[in-house]
Amino acid sequence: MVAERDVTRLAVLGATGSIGTNTLDVAARHPETFRVRAVAAGRDVEGLLAICQRYRPDRAALADEAAAARLRDRLAAEGLGDVEVSAGEAGVAALAADAEVDAVVTAVVGAAGLASSLAACEAGKTILLANKETLVVAGAAFMETARRSGARIVPVDSEHNAVFQGLPGDKATSPDVERILLTASGGPFRDRDPGTLAAITPEEAVAHPNWSMGQKISVDSATMMNKGLEVIEACHLFDLPPERVDVVIHRQSLVHALVGYRDGSYLAQVGSPDMRVPIAYAMGYPGRIASGVELIDLAAAGRLDFEAVDERRFPCLRLAYQALRAGGGACAVLNAANEVAVGAFLDRRLRFDRIAAVIEEALAAETPPPPGDLASAGAIDAQARRAAEAAVARTEG
Ligand code: NAD
Ligand code: MG
Repeated sequence: MVAERDVTRLAVLGATGSIGTNTLDVAARHPETFRVRAVAAGRDVEGLLAICQRYRPDRAALADEAAAARLRDRLAAEGLGDVEVSAGEAGVAALAADAEVDAVVTAVVGAAGLASSLAACEAGKTILLANKETLVVAGAAFMETARRSGARIVPVDSEHNAVFQGLPGDKATSPDVERILLTASGGPFRDRDPGTLAAITPEEAVAHPNWSMGQKISVDSATMMNKGLEVIEACHLFDLPPERVDVVIHRQSLVHALVGYRDGSYLAQVGSPDMRVPIAYAMGYPGRIASGVELIDLAAAGRLDFEAVDERRFPCLRLAYQALRAGGGACAVLNAANEVAVGAFLDRRLRFDRIAAVIEEALAAETPPPPGDLASAGAIDAQARRAAEAAVARTEG
């Protein structure tokens, strides 16, 4: 029992995905420090079963009820009937609030991750925040809840993790910070003739030049909406207005962000484009633990290039700043419309070069007030999804 106190008990939500898998990889390197208490996913029964076999959590959850029932049967058949399985959004959120969980990794994709992120926040957990949509949809409510509950938020998203590393002590903000700079690789189409964007296939869009990630965020990287969501994320995390958060193209994806101070210094974080680096920082914080990633050989890397973003090529970035400035629930509308547009593109119902137009149309409606809780966030999300679906139908029709 004494040893148990030195162990951090993890809930990994979105365990079967790209961030979830990388988190489990880092945890497995430090069995004396981390115990995987709970794991959750959307509907991937076999994926979560394999994780249960390897990590022996006490609890598991699937958002899909039928899939959760199948998981229960499969676990029993494999001699793991002791694993307690819960189902649905509430079942996933229950793991986030579990009394025997110390730290929650929020790696669910999309606005679907909001309920469990908020549950972890209300329960005052340490949150290793990967799900950026939480801050985009309900950033003010989430940060306010954390202040009230004492939840500690450590960003996993590589740019925000880099900023966090560049801030003094364990402060999330500093009055000496003048601006922060998020780097963007520019994605797979940074040099492509804009006249040829119409023909882009989902396969081309998810093939990122530097990072290996889930499908949705890979498309977001190709449109640069990912950077737009990250600007919004940064404003909430570090309490900065949009005009003090900039984006610069950096093709090598080695510098992840820079914190600019009033004395003229930038502090930059430099590392391989491998999510285990920021994940390990978040897990070990305030210390540092091995991630399985080596330091990069700078002489071999050779160059670090920076260039301005061409907003005509990447209209989604402009739309994100527009939503931030509009305030209220505009960022929640932006996020929902983007999820619909990206989904339609992946289903081959929408052309790549029309993703921005669908989002712009959804944003043109009257801006709702900022969501104060899960229910109001859900209402804004549903309304914006309907508007975006209608825009998709009109665009293709
Ligand atoms: P992914 O698609 O690889 O994995 C998503 C995970 O969420 C899967 O385990 C899936 O089963 C689970 N899931 C889906 N719907 C669910 C639901 N309703 N309830 C519970 N679980 C559900 O996604 P990813 O690339 O790992 O991204 C996860 C989050 O992390 C996203 O918000 C993304 O923006 C953010 N992020 C990812 C990266 C990256 O390198 N992949 C980097 C920074 C931030
Ligand atoms: Mg990022």
